[in-house]
Amino acid sequence: MLSNKSEDHMNDKTKRPKALVLLSGGLDSLLAVKLILNQGVEVEAVNFATPFCLCERCYMNEFTKDLKIKVHRIFLGQEFLDIVANPPHGYGSQMNPCIDCRILMFKKAKEIAEKIGADFLVTGEVLDERPFSQRRKAMLLIEKEAGLEGKILRPLSAKLLPETEAEKAGLVDRSKLLAIKGRRRLPQMELAKKLGLKAYPNPSGGCLLTDPEFARKVREHLKYAGKLTLTDVALLKVGRHFRVNGAKIIVGRNKNENERLLFLAKTHGFPYLKAVDYKGPITLCLGEKDRRLLEKAAAITVRYSDAPKDVPVKVICVNGEGEEIITVKAIGDDELEKLRV
Ligand code: SF4
Repeated sequence: MLSNKSEDHMNDKTKRPKALVLLSGGLDSLLAVKLILNQGVEVEAVNFATPFCLCERCYMNEFTKDLKIKVHRIFLGQEFLDIVANPPHGYGSQMNPCIDCRILMFKKAKEIAEKIGADFLVTGEVLDERPFSQRRKAMLLIEKEAGLEGKILRPLSAKLLPETEAEKAGLVDRSKLLAIKGRRRLPQMELAKKLGLKAYPNPSGGCLLTDPEFARKVREHLKYAGKLTLTDVALLKVGRHFRVNGAKIIVGRNKNENERLLFLAKTHGFPYLKAVDYKGPITLCLGEKDRRLLEKAAAITVRYSDAPKDVPVKVICVNGEGEEIITVKAIGDDELEKLRV
């Protein structure tokens, strides 16, 4: 349908071309929108969020409101988690399956583009900006696997890439597109100035899967569980993690995390522990019901509480069947380090 519409436009020069822009909210995607709007193209946007997003939505919201751009918001849930667990094209530098992630996003974007009658897709991708998914070969592979060969325009790097159908059909003027390449951000910052784009986010990871510490936890989780659910991700995002005979013990690091862990425990019926007479963390104990495991979780709870470390301390354990008190000494640091994920 995308190509049929382009043919319509070739036949009817009075019709305004329409593009669907993949808008992450980062500087590159904001610039891509500006460039394409400047060519008289009608724009709608699609914004994808995953359970790992550290998204810059406030900039995007302001930007799209100012320019009266309709945004389609799509949350990639379990379908995306299955890809993270088993990505056909592998991982980037950490646990980021960028190639398969982009294929999924483009497939979803294609459906929306067809629904709204967009002629082509636009992204803010810059050639060679990211080593895994923005090399020329990877970009073309992603396009092909999403069934979008020749239908994705990347205005920032277009002159370095094969001509797209939109350019061939005269829906956009290739001579006004750019040839930005590489990881330096300076050309984009200069362009932002030129295009009057004053507010944009700093380049930050944007995706927790590229964070080495978080990626290590995901990798370790997959080794034991073999799959990833939304609840798993919620748990991986919070606390210190320990592995004890295949079970997982999670300890809150501050008030916010303790509240979050308590919420997750109550929502999902996970057993949780807390020192009785001292300030200290909420600890979740996820595994088969086992007395020795609970004692270990209690000893870790004491270790991170304000209780003295060399005397037995009372810890309350709450689970679906009721409450019990376990009295234990704090775990030693050497043993603790061996259990840390
Ligand atoms: S960094 Fe994360 S959100 Fe971005 S393409 Fe890679 S996996 Fe997807």
